Amino acid sequence: MKLSKLASEIVQSPTFALNEEARLLRERGEAVINLGIGEPKNKTPISAVLASAAKLTSGEVKYTPPDGLPSMKKAVIRYTEENYDRLVAPENISITNGAKQSLFNIFYSILNPQDEVIVIAPYWVSYNAMIKMCMGIPVIVKPENGTFTPRFEDIERAITSATRAVIVNSPNNPSGVIYPPELIKKIVEMCEKRGIFMICDDIYHKLTFDRNVAVPAYHFTKKEVENSHIIVVNGVAKLYGMTGFRIGWVVAPRELTRVVTNVLAQTTSCVSPLAQSAAEGALNGLQSVVEALRLHIQNNRDVVLQELRTFNGVRLIEPAGTFYALPDIRAYSNNSVEVSKFLLKKAMVVTVPGKEFGMEGHLRISFAGSVNDVTEGIARIKWALDPTSPNEIYIGDKKMIRDWM
Ligand code: PMP
Repeated sequence: MKLSKLASEIVQSPTFALNEEARLLRERGEAVINLGIGEPKNKTPISAVLASAAKLTSGEVKYTPPDGLPSMKKAVIRYTEENYDRLVAPENISITNGAKQSLFNIFYSILNPQDEVIVIAPYWVSYNAMIKMCMGIPVIVKPENGTFTPRFEDIERAITSATRAVIVNSPNNPSGVIYPPELIKKIVEMCEKRGIFMICDDIYHKLTFDRNVAVPAYHFTKKEVENSHIIVVNGVAKLYGMTGFRIGWVVAPRELTRVVTNVLAQTTSCVSPLAQSAAEGALNGLQSVVEALRLHIQNNRDVVLQELRTFNGVRLIEPAGTFYALPDIRAYSNNSVEVSKFLLKKAMVVTVPGKEFGMEGHLRISFAGSVNDVTEGIARIKWALDPTSPNEIYIGDKKMIRDWM
């Protein structure tokens, strides 16, 4: 079969593939615990349900303007003012089918073939795939061994005449680190000086723990959004646990927003008004739902820290945000793909190999789920990997004996 070379080279999303594997195992009656996917288990906020239901019962479910319902854009304008201290116009906003579509449409809008985007490792898996789909080249900047924070000098050194953007995701998937404000400041100044975009993937910006905060990039420029090189991507998937509604948005200068919207209009026309109304309901509703989710996740993070510290040899940089931890498992193996497969086979726990995020020798553990799943999942990982742990465990109602070390 003759297929597009570009499309055929798109790699399968490892998290969705693992999710499917877990689902099939569960269907076969296995007691699988999924610490793979980044999806909170909360119910949709009631304000979102009611707003979407009202739209549905009105019977007026039609195309919306391609850049989004005016009322949804109003909610994003308010959100931007409250959380970023920036006044934006409706023309600075494009509502998209998830933050994923925001990112793809941005790359498609700013890249010519062979243009480069700087991607900081560890990185979210989809950046590289999207940049390649837009015929661009991801240029990876790695942190020093033992850290998840890049050195500014390494980012600066990676810039060439073909660089069009740097993508910054802080709080970071998969490591949970928040980049220090001084680093964000330097990146903002560098992008302004060199005339390149700083794409801020802020999808986890309020999911931070203890007294940590993710200072927005806008904080470090006097420029208004209209004249700025900063592009902000955000959405309701993580903060409100509304992954299935597929709502994201872009905040950017008008010229870019117009192109981003044209890409959306010619590919998916618009975003479903049912989903937009739900997101609007969430943004305009009681914000205690975000705080409740944050507290739940923070409690899970504490459990992860406590449990992982009991492992012999595992190193962990404490997650300051998101719902991911990225322990260094090199004490057991350098091959994270093998370890992840092994954990699924022996312990029925889904994890994601660090290799997928440009961080071999690590495993990504999502603690977005229930505290029981997190506690039991990590206990099983310990049983499978750590020879100092007791060699018997119950998985479901099966007693398992470790016989491989
Ligand atoms: N950026 C990052 C860093 C993410 O982790 C995710 C979701 N896993 C997204 C963007 C995409 O979010 P959405 O579900 O809104 O498309």
